[in-house]
Amino acid sequence: MADQYDVIIIGGGPGGYNAAIRAGQLGLKAAVVEKRATMGGTCLNVGCIPSKAMLNASEKLEEAATEFASLGIKVTPELDLPQMLKQKEESVTALTKGVEFLLKKNKAVWIKGWGSIAGPGKVSVKAEDGTETLYETKNIVIATGSEPSPLPGVVVDQQRIVDSTGALALSPVPKKMVVIGAGIIGLELGSVWRRLGAEVEVVEFLDRTIPGADGEIATAFQRVLTRQGVKFRLSTKVTGAKTSKTGVTLTVEPVAGGPPETLEADVVLVAVGRRPYTEGLGLETVGIVPDKRGVIPNDHFKTTVPGVWVIGDVTTGPMLAHKAEDEAVACIELIAGKAGHVNYGVIPGVIYTHPEVAWVGKTEEELKAEGVAYKVGKFPFTANARAKVNHEKDGFVKVLADATTDRILGAHMMGPQVSEMIGEYAVAMEFGGASEDVARTCHAHPTRSEALRQSAMGVEGWTMQA
Ligand code: FAD
Ligand code: NAD
Repeated sequence: MADQYDVIIIGGGPGGYNAAIRAGQLGLKAAVVEKRATMGGTCLNVGCIPSKAMLNASEKLEEAATEFASLGIKVTPELDLPQMLKQKEESVTALTKGVEFLLKKNKAVWIKGWGSIAGPGKVSVKAEDGTETLYETKNIVIATGSEPSPLPGVVVDQQRIVDSTGALALSPVPKKMVVIGAGIIGLELGSVWRRLGAEVEVVEFLDRTIPGADGEIATAFQRVLTRQGVKFRLSTKVTGAKTSKTGVTLTVEPVAGGPPETLEADVVLVAVGRRPYTEGLGLETVGIVPDKRGVIPNDHFKTTVPGVWVIGDVTTGPMLAHKAEDEAVACIELIAGKAGHVNYGVIPGVIYTHPEVAWVGKTEEELKAEGVAYKVGKFPFTANARAKVNHEKDGFVKVLADATTDRILGAHMMGPQVSEMIGEYAVAMEFGGASEDVARTCHAHPTRSEALRQSAMGVEGWTMQA
């Protein structure tokens, strides 16, 4: 039997490492068990960070190729894929090392190996060399994250048929890529490979893209991506895949019924969602039962077993790094006897394409379904001075406010760097702000953020800027 801890966290992703750091800050004796060779989980190793590194680099290549000439800059850019992949790996290494440093700084221990619950207050860790150690702890936090959902009949081999992890390391650039799933991963990584030269076709089961986002934004976004060269086949299901040495033949058919067709691709990206990861976790030793989708339910991060907590992708709510991080802090604060809380009504979502898409709060579809009376304010980037001088013409900001109280209920935007702008509406909502609060806040000129203010002014019909 090894040391006794206040809290042992299983999983070292944004949920796990932030929990360990917060525990250290609050003076709890904390350890995080991680089986990967590096800290940071899906997000830092094979998710948020490497995908944003590839999105940034490929966006710059496309900008240099298509936009510099009109600014009076003559260049002939050439793709150096090995270097682009290398800079991505360097960002990952820098950030995963940074997490290790933060853990040490906050006196949290990284126990390397596979963690499993071995009974109430007991965590067993199997190291790479096969040795097993049993640890005692007052609290266990499950933060084991998620993994790509499989698609029956389309088996991932990370060569011809890849999931997001394989799609972050392709070489050479495929001539033709078929993406299954028009969600966030499909559209972000599909954009990367289109910019690098692939012909990209997206097959989606539903009759729309990015389910969960506001419908008007999704339609406008699909139109822009189509103009950029991405092809879409909506309301279509994939029924099978055959892999050969040279590529993949996919069989697809309309969801509503109809004759099957085949699609040829060099590479197929399966991006049909993610599912909670609980393999070998020993949930049965304490009697925790995940739901039908594998999700571990929680009540303020408490599982059904006293002293066992759960946060991040493996539990309910959106599978986002910042949601996992907020839950980590709140969960540890509750363990420490403080008042931890997460406001699930104000968790922003972002798609880091060009233009970007960002949202927070309710969509128009949700408000209609709930029978809430609301007002809409809208402002296009074509009328924003900063966007105009930067030749950024795509997109708009839309704000939804309660028709009676003017309280902001949701904000949805597509446009340049809206990932950096959504926070303003998130803060306004967190403070219970009204659209008039944003409309009467002075914003610097010329900035893209003026579009936020103008959208709020639009709620009462006094939008001004041209
Ligand atoms: P994870 O990050 O999945 O971490 C769980 C960790 O637990 C893993 O490292 C795993 O090895 C470890 N583990 C599991 N079981 C055990 C065990 N038994 N013993 C020891 N260790 C174990 N979100 C955003 O907010 N913004 C983005 O831009 C974004 N981009 C993404 C891009 C891609 C391609 C992908 C795939 C995801 C992206 N996400 C993004 C989602 C984000 O990565 C997740 O929401 C986030 O990582 C969830 O954090 P987590 O701590 O719950 O789990
Ligand atoms: P997703 O849920 O965003 O999209 C999956 C898409 O696949 C949906 O449109 C769905 O209708 C479609 N689909 C499902 N089954 C299908 C089938 N059989 N055939 C065709 N289409 C099918 O999931 P994702 O894009 O895989 O991303 C997984 C998670 O990772 C998301 O929850 C997201 O929050 C997170 N993520 C976030 C970011 C970000 O914040 N920028 C980036 C990447 C991933």
